[in-house]
Amino acid sequence: MKLATIQPTAGHALPAFDSPEWRRDFARGMRAAFSAAGTRPAYLVRALAAMRSTLGPSDLFEVAAPHQSSNGKLAKNAVATLAFTGAPDASSGRYDTCPASTAGCRALCVLSDACGYAAIERRAGGVGTIMAARARRVIALREHPVAAGAELARCIARAARMADRYDVRAVARLNVGTDLPWEQMPEIGAAFARFKVEGYAYTKRPHAVRLAMRTGGWANATRIVYSWSEDASPRLAVDYLRAGGTVAVVFAGLGIGAYADPMPRAFVIDGTAWTCIDGDATDDRTTDPPGCVVALRGKGPLATRDASRLAQANRHGFAVMPSDPRIRR
Ligand code: SF4
Repeated sequence: MKLATIQPTAGHALPAFDSPEWRRDFARGMRAAFSAAGTRPAYLVRALAAMRSTLGPSDLFEVAAPHQSSNGKLAKNAVATLAFTGAPDASSGRYDTCPASTAGCRALCVLSDACGYAAIERRAGGVGTIMAARARRVIALREHPVAAGAELARCIARAARMADRYDVRAVARLNVGTDLPWEQMPEIGAAFARFKVEGYAYTKRPHAVRLAMRTGGWANATRIVYSWSEDASPRLAVDYLRAGGTVAVVFAGLGIGAYADPMPRAFVIDGTAWTCIDGDATDDRTTDPPGCVVALRGKGPLATRDASRLAQANRHGFAVMPSDPRIRR
């Protein structure tokens, strides 16, 4: 499979992931799974087999017990966690999964093949199995919507059972490395509500933020976190914070590990200082207080305290620099 590396200035040459037909068929798959009651209709069995041939050996979704996720950030969650991890932006080579991405976030995306486990594998001379698996998940999700919907339904029920077993809550983050419009699908909201699963999602899509603004930062049982970038709208962010929403901001140059600087106390947006919480303590965003800034520590090239290296890494202005006057310490 040919994979495309994220190109910061490449724009969106690939077709958009989302479509009305995809949503319709995905919802159909969810309904089929929930009404199957232990048996599967023949068409669903065939659809699942076809999806498996695209997906290969990895699972479409991960359902992890508390602190057991394969993703280091999600492993901080003290709850059962359902997750979808895909290839960001154009890196599946087939679909654009981040319609509101910016030059800055594409250059620094921690789910790109330049960061994290995928980068370690590449530097070690590996053949890109991690990014290939993320790309196959995106393609399987998009091209086998009935089966993917059925699989999500099964995993929602499984997350609920796991939460019962560990006597914890269940949460779902369906956008790890993607910015897909899950929160626009009422069928997913209904399933989350039925199984007491709380979703959360970081997004740069203003449409998702406006939808959640009407209901205190939630849309279809999913907590929507507006993701700050060089193109973020301060007006939208402030309106959202006032409505009870939350805004995630990456702060660069704080270092990492035992000698890291503390997170900022507050961040000023449009003249108002908004209290920061430490967004790295857990990935579970469902219990954050309303109207706060979720402060995230810059990782990888954004962790350094070397001013010139930091300026080069953050040349598009995606993260907030240490000297930024909007920071309150
Ligand atoms: S929108 Fe998020 S997932 Fe997509 S490229 Fe930007 S940082 Fe990565």
